[in-house]
Amino acid sequence: MTSRNRNRTEQRRIFLKYGGHCAYCGCQLDPFDWHIDHVLPRKCGGSHDSKNLVAACVPCNTRKGDMTMDEFRRWFPVHIAQRIRDIAPRLQMAWWMTEEDKLGIEAQIFNIARQLDEQRVVFYMERVMKTD
Ligand SMILES: [Zn+2]
Repeated sequence: MTSRNRNRTEQRRIFLKYGGHCAYCGCQLDPFDWHIDHVLPRKCGGSHDSKNLVAACVPCNTRKGDMTMDEFRRWFPVHIAQRIRDIAPRLQMAWWMTEEDKLGIEAQIFNIARQLDEQRVVFYMERVMKTD
């Protein structure tokens, strides 16, 4: 077996580890457009050993970057909550709304953001059993 074939076999094994699903969000991976993620990042001493490698969709792999799983877990809902909070100041542009309505909607935005902050993220790989 050439090293190229061994690479392909290894890639296929990683792809199938969670049945062709992203190890983080669980989406069905596009076989032609997915990434290999180091669960423990290389900068934290994570190895190239297949035990440390999972298949991830491009958005999950890009967002996770150099974070550990627990850093990613904490960051994700907070990041989305912040994006929602960032909308609140734009309500000032809504010239057709009363101040009272703006305050009401702003309160709802902050309520939704707080609920997101409190979400506990469980990754797909933690919900399902590995196939190998
Ligand atoms: Zn994903």
